[in-house]
Amino acid sequence: MKIIESPKEFQQLTESLRLQGKKLAFAPTMGALHDGHLSLVKHAKARADVALMSVFVNPLQFGKNEDFGKYPRPFERDKALAEKAGVDILFAPTHEALYDKGFQSFVNVKHISEKFEGEIRPDHFRGVATVVCKLFNLAKPHVAVFGQKDAQQLTLIRQMVADLNIDIEIVAAPIVRESDGLAMSSRNIYLSEQERREAVVISESLKIVQKLIAEGERESEILIDATLRHLQTSLLAKPEYVAFVRADDFSEARELVKGNAYFLILAVRFGTVRLLDNLYIQV
Ligand code: AMP
Repeated sequence: MKIIESPKEFQQLTESLRLQGKKLAFAPTMGALHDGHLSLVKHAKARADVALMSVFVNPLQFGKNEDFGKYPRPFERDKALAEKAGVDILFAPTHEALYDKGFQSFVNVKHISEKFEGEIRPDHFRGVATVVCKLFNLAKPHVAVFGQKDAQQLTLIRQMVADLNIDIEIVAAPIVRESDGLAMSSRNIYLSEQERREAVVISESLKIVQKLIAEGERESEILIDATLRHLQTSLLAKPEYVAFVRADDFSEARELVKGNAYFLILAVRFGTVRLLDNLYIQV
């Protein structure tokens, strides 16, 4: 595995691989890699000749009082895991290299950025869209893989790629979970033992909804109520939002209509830790 720090060097290498006729697939991450991230590599390798991964904790997508400073950065471990998973090129730039002193250009995907995560974390999605656009320009991949775990981010990237005519196929990778059902996340390590135990209510509530839908329930309000009722069985769980949205534009849906795809999205706080999860539903 080749490790590259310099944006210019990375861009030159991906350009030369393209000229050699290689197909490139790219998985951007913030590191602290777990099996969820490594599954993206599997999807990348299945679709291309060369698997690219970036590890970059992007300051632009963190709010002032968020965990940018303490976000885990186990780079030696990340390198070993990425190599074992079959990453061919690992791009790990410094902040200074990616954001020059005079940096002043941003990508704003307007409507999708304004709700749910965007409402709670102002400027978060502007930071995400901007860094992903920059990374796309450096990696110039044919395919980019994103986790369904961050459904709003995935929808936002799809919108950006369509709006700005970016010639990259966006692939969604299913959510990878711990054995008890908790969606893997680099932030799960912040949970106390009790919070970690009780966090299982999140995936349990999604299973309850999945069952109700299989039994024919189509009304969002009823499905959202069932989710909240189950989340409330944990005293530590503080739901921030639970909603049904269309998978194509993240607009809220009152009922599930045959032929459409939706996400049931939720964010639940346990102490200071925010956990996101979702269920993809095609009816
Ligand atoms: P992050 O490092 O949190 O920015 O995540 C990098 C990529 O990994 C994003 O596309 C995430 O959606 C994806 N990802 C994170 N957690 C998971 C998971 N549990 N399963 C699948 N993909 C994930």
